Amino acid sequence: MAARGKDPRPHVLVVEDEAFQREALTEYLENNGYRVSGVESGAAMRKLVEKDPPALALLDLRLPGGEDGFALARWLRERSKRLGIIMVTASGDTVDRVVGLETGADDYIAKPFEPRELLARVKAVLRRAGGAQAADRSPRVRIGRCMLDLESRKLTTLAGEDVPLRAGEYELLKLLAENPNRALSRDWLLETVSHRELDVFDRAIDIRILRLRRKVEEDPARPTSIRTVRGAGYMFVPPDD
Ligand code: CA
Repeated sequence: MAARGKDPRPHVLVVEDEAFQREALTEYLENNGYRVSGVESGAAMRKLVEKDPPALALLDLRLPGGEDGFALARWLRERSKRLGIIMVTASGDTVDRVVGLETGADDYIAKPFEPRELLARVKAVLRRAGGAQAADRSPRVRIGRCMLDLESRKLTTLAGEDVPLRAGEYELLKLLAENPNRALSRDWLLETVSHRELDVFDRAIDIRILRLRRKVEEDPARPTSIRTVRGAGYMFVPPDD
């Protein structure tokens, strides 16, 4: 195990050549419950990863010295399937090839970004990577007129009444809750939630979405929490408090 294996906080690696950005990110993530290592180059990253493997890496796409974030993502992915990888791109970068099998990255975020958005992505990728929830002290997510508890797997109204959920509905709602403000394609949702289910067919996701809307939306005919993204899929929009 790593030298600091007793530290329960998830280890996040930040690869960013610009010192100010690297330090700002490191400080922000540390303040939010992560143990963070910041490095300025691919060479420094390799050295660090051998000694102290991270749970998640944030990789700047544009690095000096002939190595870009894609190369680093591939190197990391060859070493670990479970490691979460988020690419940090600049506006103007073509992002459609950033995420996917080609590079092994799980997600990307474009500069300039809201720190809170970055934090949401970090949490979502760590959960998907089977990683730690240590930095997430509140496993409760508000969805419309309901609250989803990711520990007890229970859905309740804000008034505290239980709302029954089938296993497949819970899996789908959890995925939505973990990926706020992101359009999630029906194919991706179907692949990700239905592995244990027998009813794998095209409409399974749409039917579950309809059922979930009846449970969580104030007005299921005009959904505001679980929205349809035309031509793309569905998106969970948290209430703006
Ligand atoms: Ca850079």
